[in-house]
Amino acid sequence: MRENLHFVAVGHVDHGKSTMIGRLLYDTESLPPDKMEEVRRMSEESNGQPEFAFVMDHLEEERTNRITIDTAQTFFKTEKRDYTIIDAPGHKQFLKNMITGSTQAEAALLLIDAEEGLREQTHRHAYILGLLGIKQLIVIVNKMDLAGYKEERFNELRDQITARLGEFNMTVKPEMIIPISAQLGDNVAKKGENMSWFSGMTMLEALDKLECAKTTEDGMLRFPIQDIYEVDGQKIIAGRLVSGAIKSGQDIIFHPCGKSATVDKIKKNFNEDFDVAVAGESIGLTLKGESAFKALKRGEIACDVEPSPMVSSTIEAVVFWMSGMPVRLNDKLDFKCATNQMQCQVKRIDNRLNSSSLEVIEESSNELRETEVARLTLKLDGYVATDKFEQVAETGRFVLMRDTDTVAGGVIH
Ligand code: GDP
Repeated sequence: MRENLHFVAVGHVDHGKSTMIGRLLYDTESLPPDKMEEVRRMSEESNGQPEFAFVMDHLEEERTNRITIDTAQTFFKTEKRDYTIIDAPGHKQFLKNMITGSTQAEAALLLIDAEEGLREQTHRHAYILGLLGIKQLIVIVNKMDLAGYKEERFNELRDQITARLGEFNMTVKPEMIIPISAQLGDNVAKKGENMSWFSGMTMLEALDKLECAKTTEDGMLRFPIQDIYEVDGQKIIAGRLVSGAIKSGQDIIFHPCGKSATVDKIKKNFNEDFDVAVAGESIGLTLKGESAFKALKRGEIACDVEPSPMVSSTIEAVVFWMSGMPVRLNDKLDFKCATNQMQCQVKRIDNRLNSSSLEVIEESSNELRETEVARLTLKLDGYVATDKFEQVAETGRFVLMRDTDTVAGGVIH
């Protein structure tokens, strides 16, 4: 199966995001034939300077007619693999989608206008990417043609970017800061003659160098129990493997209860026995001996013996509040992570900030309002097993419910 890498493109408005996406699609021949033709014609008429943003607007219209999801996706491919560009209409929407798990990006392209340089939004974008644990970043310095293709200008911006990203604990390798002209195509799919001083990769080469998210099969074993039922006197644990792989005969530990057990049979497809199951599969599990079953119930997670998840009755996490009704200190909510659900109480609201401007509203607050983000401390009614979001997304992310409404999403770092 061909790899598919999902990345998000972020940048200040007008720094050339649409143009860059249009150029990428054109150079990889991923536009529909009539659009390819249109760009070719425009290019001839305008002395090699087609207006890609215009092409993208057309595509946008077609896309919105076809799909009704919040985050638009665009596709292209190289010889190496397929790509999905996640187009974030605004970072508020993007943050919400990422935090609730409806969008997953493995990498980001951060776009900066060579003429205008770094803007306040560059800070915000870096903050969001850091928050979401996106570690792979390519920085694109666009519109180099408007900066006379000057090496000094690029070097100046490169140094500023490196320093600023450092403030957010984001490292970016020097060869992943690339000077391009999206409009003219320099260093996008092919080396630009205008920037012979630049010895780094083109944008496409840099994209091909990124790593696809480790397939979850390679990750730590996490099998949250959905249900336990009995067939012909035999107890079977049912659930979906969210990370890693499991083998018959393997020793496992359930968390948070801490009970060890040995896997006997793995059942798939209506009770057929298999030796192995991998992430994504829904399975039934039988255990050797019945003793472990006394402690087991929905919400317990079968894990490798090592490394263990975090087991605690206190959760600290970055939470994005989505409900029109604010949350206040000491409010009680339902905490839902993987198959676990229990009541929790809000004990602290720190670093409360506006998700649009990313301005800090209060360092320590009594409440959190719609579309705001804060670091919350939650006291749970019992123990849960969780992971860091970067390690296992499914057990590193949770939602908060009030009655039957999902009012917030959270990410554990
Ligand atoms: P977005 O708001 O980030 O999507 O920006 P657009 O792609 O709409 O680009 C904003 C303006 O910058 C448009 O007029 C583009 O034609 C122009 N632009 C984008 N990339 C380049 C470039 O590499 N060189 C030049 N000269 N203009 C560019």
